[in-house]
Amino acid sequence: MNLPKAVHCDNCAKTVEYRADQVVRDGKSKVEIVCPDCHSVIAMFCDPPAKLFHVLITSGPHAYRYVGIAHNGGPLRNPDLQETPPVNLPDTSYGLWLQKGGAIEFSEDEVGSVELQLKELGYETEVSEAWT
Ligand SMILES: [Zn+2]
Repeated sequence: MNLPKAVHCDNCAKTVEYRADQVVRDGKSKVEIVCPDCHSVIAMFCDPPAKLFHVLITSGPHAYRYVGIAHNGGPLRNPDLQETPPVNLPDTSYGLWLQKGGAIEFSEDEVGSVELQLKELGYETEVSEAWT
């Protein structure tokens, strides 16, 4: 794993040379980047890297759209998005995007709860690995 030598600590508002700690939690090995000054965790890497997933809706009027962030109603500059803008999913903090770029990358742990939440709203879903 290639890690940068120095990182920016938001807490200290400066770039620091970090200490990397290998921690094992829930049977998974993680590398924690800890600020040497304030000891806050700046970043965490999974080892091996965590797989990320896209969730697709496969039923309803917006079938085969990706679950992404809710659209705030602001202007869309991308012509692609202007043509087929995201549709917000009622009662959730999600929006449905035709474009892969709008899709949220969910961790393996998150996928289950997202699917459950959508199922409760009456949606069929499909999960695909991001970046394959
Ligand atoms: Zn710090």
